Amino acid sequence: MRAAEIQSELTNVLVTEEQILAKLDEIAAQVAVDYEGKDLLLVGVLKGAVMVMADFSRALPVSAPMDWMAVSSYGAGTKSSGVVQIRKDLDTDLHDKHVLIVEDIIDSGLTLSWLLENFASRGAASIEVFALLRKPEAAKVVVDCKYVGFDIPNDFVVGYGLDYAENYRNLRDVAVLAPHVYS
Ligand code: 5GP
Ligand code: MG
Ligand code: MG
Repeated sequence: MRAAEIQSELTNVLVTEEQILAKLDEIAAQVAVDYEGKDLLLVGVLKGAVMVMADFSRALPVSAPMDWMAVSSYGAGTKSSGVVQIRKDLDTDLHDKHVLIVEDIIDSGLTLSWLLENFASRGAASIEVFALLRKPEAAKVVVDCKYVGFDIPNDFVVGYGLDYAENYRNLRDVAVLAPHVYS
């Protein structure tokens, strides 16, 4: 897709790359304090969290191992189905680990609440969530999320890892996808 075409499919930029990076620095500093002396494991949820994980892990002043889980609840559309499938499981045994789940966005909350329940049975010492974005108005279940980057309106957004039908992940900012693209 070419630049002009991409521009016509976005309405407005919600969060700029600059704002994201500043926020990641802030949260990383907090996480470093909260997890001092603990065996921290970062778990990214593929594929949306790839950019957040890349920048967040480098903002951390400490080194922490990372692992990845791939789940799907969306398919190619813009609505959560609530049915979660594991596409790739973790490589790490969670026993005694302090797990921080790194997520791109909490929308309905269905995916994360399912993940939290799934992880709870694996013997982790603690499990917390960091989500870069959250849509409070879209919540169907309450998810206890310790670190949140930005609360945003209930629009479908793309960029910074977030896709629509696998496109737009490489946009540097988070922008609202024009409704004409998917309706
Ligand atoms: P939830 O289960 O909370 O409804 O969301 C599950 C996943 O759907 C999120 O982790 C994210 O990958 C995707 N998702 C939710 N809202 C949006 C959105 O506004 N834009 C994009 N591109 N993906 C979203
Ligand atoms: Mg996600
Ligand atoms: Mg997606």
